[in-house]
Amino acid sequence: MEEVTLKGLTFVPYIKRDEIAKQVQRVADEIRRDCQSEEPLFLCVLNGAFMFAADLYRAIDMPKSVITFIRFKSYDGMQSTGKISTVMGLNEDIEGREVIIIEDIVDTGLTAQRLREELLTRNPASVKMATLLYKPASLTVGVPPEYVCFEIPSRFILGYGLDLDGQARGLADVYVLKPEVTEE
Ligand code: 5GP
Repeated sequence: MEEVTLKGLTFVPYIKRDEIAKQVQRVADEIRRDCQSEEPLFLCVLNGAFMFAADLYRAIDMPKSVITFIRFKSYDGMQSTGKISTVMGLNEDIEGREVIIIEDIVDTGLTAQRLREELLTRNPASVKMATLLYKPASLTVGVPPEYVCFEIPSRFILGYGLDLDGQARGLADVYVLKPEVTEE
């Protein structure tokens, strides 16, 4: 597919599915190699990470591991609202466990920081984060994610689970907002 137009904005292909699959496999191999136990707990942050988490978790291929799904929101349309709500859906006992968060994208780092703080109050053995996309220039709080498929510039992305007001999550490739052409 070439360009996609949503809500009057045009997006162009940025990372193709083959390249995504390659980097997902690389990160899965790194995670499996680094795991201290055979039974880590993976926490997929809904909604955006659902597609990445499905592919990554399958590629990690650790039958004794567990995946669960939590939820949290900091974006409204294309603007960060700056408001971080509480974590919903974390019903597992994580004390003494190796926890790996699966995120779609780390932008300001606020969501990641908030989540790490929440998890650390529950005494896990460790907390790490795997993300599909990371915008290092936008990071304002916290530490960089431990596992990154792609480092990208601070531009708005959608597809492969990432949305614009709920749309475009099903696109198999990652798209970026087309830069506006300015008249000379
Ligand atoms: P942060 O808390 O790091 O600023 O933002 C994390 C969340 O903001 C992500 O989980 C994602 O939902 C949303 N987000 C940040 N950048 C983008 C982007 O470029 N595209 C989309 N669709 N969502 C984004």
